[in-house]
This record gives sequence, C-alpha cells and structure tokens, in this order.
Amino acid sequence: MISAALARAHHLLNQEMLGYLDTVELLTNEHDTDDETVLAVARAEVPRLVAALRATVATHKADPSGDCPACHTTWPCAVIDSAHSYLKDPDSIYSAGPAISSTASVNA
Ligand SMILES: [Zn+2]
Repeated sequence: MISAALARAHHLLNQEMLGYLDTVELLTNEHDTDDETVLAVARAEVPRLVAALRATVATHKADPSGDCPACHTTWPCAVIDSAHSYLKDPDSIYSAGPAISSTASVNA
C-alpha cells in the first residue's frame, strides 16, 4: 500500500503522459485537424514516441539469465508483452479500460 501523497504523484505523472498522448492523438486526427498541422505534429512527435518506446524496450531487455532486470521476472515481462501486443493491434488498447484515459481517477 502506498501513501496518499505517493498515489497523488503517480496520478499526476500518469495524467501528464496521458494528456500528452491525448493531444498528439487529437492533433494528428485526420478528421479534426488540417493536413499541414498533422504533418508538423507527426514530424515533431513521432520521433519522441519512438524514442520512448525504444527506451522502454531497452530497459526491459532480457538479461543473460533470461529475466527482465527492471521487472525481476522471466522475459518477456508484462511491459514487453503489452507493448508488443499493442503495437501489433493498436485498437485493442481502447478496450483495455479506464487506465488509458486521461480522466482516470486515483485509486488510493
Ligand atoms: Zn520488464
């Protein structure tokens, strides 16, 4: 069990990341945004998103014993398994529940 202050910090960090993703998603939506803006946002933000995913994959790379050093579990860990699944089927994230919503509440 974590403290209320730490739960609030987790919530704020989560909201910051989800808010960023919501903004990128909105500004690259072909129905709501003009092509010039979509191109500019994509050029600026896709490299950042790729870097974030590359860093996540690098952090959760199997060690010589076949474990994830970040999660201390057998590789592939839940992080790699989820990232791989959502890369192969991005639409499945939208049926994953409130954890992906920027309006998710703190469960502390
Ligand atoms: Zn891991």
